[in-house]
Amino acid sequence: MLLKSIELSGFKSFAKKSSFKFTSAITAIVGPNGSGKSNVAESFRFVLGEQSMKSLRGKRGEDLIWNGNAEVSKANRASVKITFDNTNKFLDIDFPEVTIERVVHRDGSNEYSINGSQVRLKDIAELLFKANIGSTGHHIISQGEADRILSASAKERRSMVEDALGLKGFQYKKEESVKKLSKTRENIDKVSSLRREIAPHMRFLKKQVEKIEKAEEMRRDLTTKYREYLARETVYLDKEGGFIEKTEQPLVQALRDHDEKIAFLKKTIEEGKEKGSDSEVLIQKEEELRNVLREKENLMLQEGRLIGEKESIERLLEEEKRNQAREETKTVPLRDVRSLLSDIEDESNSEQTVSGLLQKVKAIFATFLDRFKEEVETDRMETFERNIRELTQKIEQNKKEILLKQEAEQNARKAYEEARIHIEKQKDDHRDAEKEVYELLAERQKVASELHDIRMKAEIYRRDKEAFVREIDEGRVLIGDEILLYKNDLETYREAGEERAVQEERRKVIERIKIRLEDMGAGNGAEILKEYKQVSERDEFLMKELEDLEKSVLSLENLIKDLDEELRTRFHDGLVKINTQFNNFFSLMFGGGKAELKIVKEQKRRRVLDEDEESEDDTEEETEEGVEVDVALPRKRIRGLMMLSGGERALTSIALLFAVSQVNPPPFIILDETDAALDEANSRKYGDMIESLATESELILITHNRETMARAGNIYGVTMGKDGVSKLLSISFDEASRVAK
Ligand code: ATP
Repeated sequence: MLLKSIELSGFKSFAKKSSFKFTSAITAIVGPNGSGKSNVAESFRFVLGEQSMKSLRGKRGEDLIWNGNAEVSKANRASVKITFDNTNKFLDIDFPEVTIERVVHRDGSNEYSINGSQVRLKDIAELLFKANIGSTGHHIISQGEADRILSASAKERRSMVEDALGLKGFQYKKEESVKKLSKTRENIDKVSSLRREIAPHMRFLKKQVEKIEKAEEMRRDLTTKYREYLARETVYLDKEGGFIEKTEQPLVQALRDHDEKIAFLKKTIEEGKEKGSDSEVLIQKEEELRNVLREKENLMLQEGRLIGEKESIERLLEEEKRNQAREETKTVPLRDVRSLLSDIEDESNSEQTVSGLLQKVKAIFATFLDRFKEEVETDRMETFERNIRELTQKIEQNKKEILLKQEAEQNARKAYEEARIHIEKQKDDHRDAEKEVYELLAERQKVASELHDIRMKAEIYRRDKEAFVREIDEGRVLIGDEILLYKNDLETYREAGEERAVQEERRKVIERIKIRLEDMGAGNGAEILKEYKQVSERDEFLMKELEDLEKSVLSLENLIKDLDEELRTRFHDGLVKINTQFNNFFSLMFGGGKAELKIVKEQKRRRVLDEDEESEDDTEEETEEGVEVDVALPRKRIRGLMMLSGGERALTSIALLFAVSQVNPPPFIILDETDAALDEANSRKYGDMIESLATESELILITHNRETMARAGNIYGVTMGKDGVSKLLSISFDEASRVAK
């Protein structure tokens, strides 16, 4: 037996714990009217999860709880436990025995449990659907409900048939899927709106991040550029500094040396000018030489004269010698004549008279002639010879003097020459010194200009060095300590030579980047990046969520489509099978005739709200499939349910219920007085059908019908005492027969 037992406690009239054990295929529950039999059938519905209070004949949950009376106080809770044997795993749960319990409290709250563990209603529903047991089950036919399948609308009937065919599981799945689908769509809307909400902020952050990234890229670029620039600049400054240091001092020294030399030379020149005596010496020497030459010339002239005089005297002597031989050629020396004349003049001055004078002159002449005759003629020769000797002596003397003068001339000439050479040399020296001064001045000018250049360079160097330090300070603000990376690259550029302009160009590029970076503003990059990361992660999450949800929608739509298809096929196939059984049972009950379930299409007008105009006029045609019952009684010309008698209706509905149960046998079937309207003959047929049904499903039959009771292997009697409490007792067929009709 799959269904092992049911235990009621505080449920409706079962104030006390009452347990039904189901040990045979057919169990009959018998008892007087109002004893609480139907409450048992309801307890099945209740424990299997029935939510409709109407089906449980109540208004509120409270109505299901023993409400007490003067004798037995009311209960706080109603509980029903149903136990299945699950050794063959007809319930998809890994227990050999499964007990499902439902408890309702006075506040209307419900608790469900499976084998003592609390579960959700949904869990129970799922478990039961799979086993073809449902709360509203086709397999629990309440009192008077047998007819319901006939009186129901085509749509309701269809639902009942679906339920019986075990399609509720699929439908439940489909409904769940539809719910899930709409929930998923809601979620899509929610997620989409969340994404829309964060989108502007994210766009803003993205722009900020792009800016930050751009700035970061520029900073990296700047770092690279700085690295080369600063390394090159260091190399340049080192070289330049070294060069200046090496060059400036020697130039300063050279300038000083030049100045000293020039000063010295100028002083020397000035001194030379001041002295001037050397040229005077030359003049003096020249004068001296000229004097000696003049004296020598005089001596030579004198020599000539003396020689001439001597030669003339020698001639006179010769002549005298010859004259002495001849008187007429005798001559008075001029001297004597002059002396004679002088004597006359002397006399003339002292003599006053001419005659006196004449007398005296005659006397003078007479004397002269006498002296001449005596002296001159004799002395003359001697005078000549003496004169010649004297002259010869004089000439000799003169010669000696000339010789001396020649010597003096030589000395004077030498002295003059020396003086002249000295002066020349002095002049040369002076010229050289002046030339040297000029040269030195030119050189000095060169050195000074070089020094000027170097000092200019030094000034530029100083400024460059300051700029270098400033650059590092400024750069550090923008790129931090990475500014110092250039120190690793110095060797790379150590030998590199290039125009300064190239480096200047580099500096300009760096300057431009710096300005742009400063314009961008540092901002709180880390915070924005963090926020952007969070927001974009959230957005990504939402996007992923959306993707998942859309996938879900797709798969749910597919699932729903598949379920629809499955339902349709199973329904149509099931219907064909049901019809075979229905026809069989029907003809068995009525001894012929025909019965059939037909699918009908119902046109339904559905009101559609026009979103724009809010007009309620628009309607839409919708087709719904329903199930109609078509019967043809044997030997009667009537068709249709409306024409059937009460008994015929009961038979038809039983035939249909049995047919349905036969096609998809549930583990158990509860029939609450389904046989109430049957006459004896039909009760037998009913009994036969029950037995055939019991081969597939466990039957619990609430009945007053003896025929039915006779088929039961187990009979429970339900009684109600004066205390209004239903009581349970296992009874024999005979005992049961007594209460039966
Ligand atoms: P019949 O043979 O006439 O169909 P029955 O045996 O099926 O009768 P039920 O309908 O099962 O009888 O029982 C109804 C009885 O249960 C009534 O007497 C009713 O007062 C009682 N009952 C229903 N709900 C409660 C409740 N909450 N507390 C106490 N008694 C209740």
